[in-house]
Amino acid sequence: ESAERAKLLEAYELAGKLYRYLLLNTAEGKPALEYLRSRGLTDALIELFGIGYAPAGWDTMAKFLESRQFPLPLLEQGGLISARQDGSGYFDKFRDRVMFPILDWKGQAIAFAARSMGDAQPKYLNSPESMLFHKSRTLYNLHLARPQIRKSQELVLFEGYMDVIQSWEAGVTNSVATMGTALTAEHAEAIRRLAERVVVAYDGDGAGQTAAYKSIPILENAGLNVRIALLPGNLDPDEYIRKHGSERYVREVITTAVPSIKYKLLYSRKNFRLQEDGEKLRYIRQAFKLIATIASPIEREHYVKELTNEFQLKFETAMQELNEIRLQSE
Ligand code: ATP
Ligand code: MN
Ligand code: MN
Ligand code: MN
Repeated sequence: ESAERAKLLEAYELAGKLYRYLLLNTAEGKPALEYLRSRGLTDALIELFGIGYAPAGWDTMAKFLESRQFPLPLLEQGGLISARQDGSGYFDKFRDRVMFPILDWKGQAIAFAARSMGDAQPKYLNSPESMLFHKSRTLYNLHLARPQIRKSQELVLFEGYMDVIQSWEAGVTNSVATMGTALTAEHAEAIRRLAERVVVAYDGDGAGQTAAYKSIPILENAGLNVRIALLPGNLDPDEYIRKHGSERYVREVITTAVPSIKYKLLYSRKNFRLQEDGEKLRYIRQAFKLIATIASPIEREHYVKELTNEFQLKFETAMQELNEIRLQSE
């Protein structure tokens, strides 16, 4: 088992080297390099993140590793190659894709995320679960981000690999992403072991907003202080940085991330047509219920004030209503 593990780690390391070589030094890799540059990645970033290119041929990797005496069934189990249906051998799992290595905390490659450049679906193809790779525990870029996460006691969590990389370039170096799966309690506990606070910077579209909303209890249950970054106009962090630049990104997205309670208020608000009186009252009641869950009296008062100002309610009446809700939920 541990000999097999070591062998598979070795295979992943060699595979990463081959992908990097093909990206940077061959005519075959040229379009992939152009693609990465068109997305704003410098040569330094491509090197730092170990990005490579998996060639279009059917068995480049299978032949390369077979000639180095790696057992093919082990490589299949490890997700680098797949067995042909008819039993006549193996073909490469990743073909004609840009390759992002996924490293463990020691910096060893344990998986790949592979992005298609054209219309090939799926857009991202990830290594399967293996003896090295467990999606529900892995955070992309934890290896590089770890020192800054510990130092700042804060971690910024993204949906995508490109978000992490562009964020790094923008100077936000405590950045990680989940592996295209939902955030798990295991992720949250791993984060809590390194930091006290987390900023969730998911995509600005509906899916990203819902995922951010769902991440709040998972992170808070692990004991983390949670803020949510607001991305305007359906942009994801990568697109925002490319469009508005690093400075504005740090100033208006990261630094101004809102506390989780504020996010819950903004999120629930979208379900009500506030021009209508009945809906407005329903929203106010909903907002009080959320505010009632805040532990700190000062914070409660702050959000009650915000609400009473917006809807021109009497502060005293509002506090009375809030206390009633708190009594009911005891
Ligand atoms: P890009 O900027 O390269 O287009 P993205 O990160 O913005 O990619 P999204 O569509 O926002 O891509 O998806 C967020 C994340 O979800 C991706 O980074 C990836 O981890 C995962 N993901 C997206 N599409 C797929 C897919 N078809 N299969 C597996 N994972 C996917
Ligand atoms: Mn998305
Ligand atoms: Mn995205
Ligand atoms: Mn994107």
